[in-house]
Amino acid sequence: MFRLDLQRFGVPFRRTSKTKKRMRRTHLKKEAGAILKCPKCGAALRPHRACTKCGNYKNKEVIKTSEEE
Ligand SMILES: [Zn+2]
Repeated sequence: MFRLDLQRFGVPFRRTSKTKKRMRRTHLKKEAGAILKCPKCGAALRPHRACTKCGNYKNKEVIKTSEEE
């Protein structure tokens, strides 16, 4: 049974070392998403979205907010 299994697929010649495993996984880290600051009120916001605090997008008021009036 064991011999047949060896013939069917490739078997690693030796165990992957801790260093080799870690070197391979250096590329797998997750990147933080892009965060911009609103030019008008300075609140953090995501790109291509209107500001949730003041309702501005590209220096124009797109959404009416109750805080301003
Ligand atoms: Zn804003």
